[in-house]
Amino acid sequence: MRILTLGLDGSGEFAFQSHAHTDHFANGRLIFATRPTIFLSHLRNSRYYIPVDFGKKFYIGDFKAKLYPSGHILGSSGIKIWLDEGTLYYTGDVKVKKLRTVERAKLPKADFLIIESTFGLPRFTFPDPRESEKVIIGIVEDLIDRGKVPTFMANPYGKAQEIIKILNVHGYSVSVDREIAKVSKFYMKFGVRLKFEKEGEVKVSSSKGISVSGFGRIKLSNHADFWELLEIVERVNPEKVFTVYGHAEAFAKILNGLGYEAKSIRRNQKLEVW
Ligand SMILES: [Zn+2]
Repeated sequence: MRILTLGLDGSGEFAFQSHAHTDHFANGRLIFATRPTIFLSHLRNSRYYIPVDFGKKFYIGDFKAKLYPSGHILGSSGIKIWLDEGTLYYTGDVKVKKLRTVERAKLPKADFLIIESTFGLPRFTFPDPRESEKVIIGIVEDLIDRGKVPTFMANPYGKAQEIIKILNVHGYSVSVDREIAKVSKFYMKFGVRLKFEKEGEVKVSSSKGISVSGFGRIKLSNHADFWELLEIVERVNPEKVFTVYGHAEAFAKILNGLGYEAKSIRRNQKLEVW
C-alpha cells in the first residue's frame, strides 16, 4: 500500500494549508493552498506555496486531490484525497451556514473524514447568521440614538470583513483600523465588495469594542456549531471519522454514541485510516 506524506495544516515535505489563520499555517517545503489563502498568508509569512483552484483535480505525488470551499473565511478550503484505502476529506475550519463574505461550503462524500471540532459540544448552538445580524443592527441603532459610536471587536482575518459587509448592507458608514483595512483590501481584490472610510458611524476594531465571535457577546461565528458539525458528518457520510482541534475527544465520544466509528486525533499526528 502506498503511503502519502502530507501535512494537513501541519508539517511534512508536502503540506496543505486550509486557510490563512495563523493556527493553521503549514510548515511544508511545498504548501498547497488557494490563491486567496496564499495572498492572506503572505501578510504574515513568506513560505513557498503552490496555488490550487477549488474543484480542480491536482496531484500530490501520485495521489489525486481536490479542494472544496469550506465557508470559513476568504479562500478557506477542505481537501479530498483519493488514497488506496478509499477517499479522505479534511474539513479545515468549516462553516455550513452561508456568511455574506465567503463562498458557501461544499461537502463531498468521503470514506474517511477528518473534521474540526472547535465547537463540538451541544452547548455550542449558534443562531442563524441572519439573526446575529439583526442583533448587531439593533445595537448599532440603539447606540447611535444615544449619541455614541458603536465599536465592534473582531478577528481582522475574516470576521471583521463580515461585520463591515453587514453594516454596508444596512447603510451604515464604517471605519476600521489598519490591520483590518489591509486584510479587507485582499477581500476586495478577490471580488468581495466592502466599503469603509476615515470617519464612519460605526467602528470595527481588531483590539477593542463589543466582541463578535462564537465565544463573544454577539454570537456570529465563522465556525460550525455543534449541529452544523453533525450535519457535515451526515453529508460526508464516512465510514470513519477523526476529530481534531477544540473539543475533539468529547465530539468523538458523542459520534460513537450516535453509531459512528470516531476517534480524536492531535495536530501532526500520523494517521492510519485503516
Ligand atoms: Zn480559522
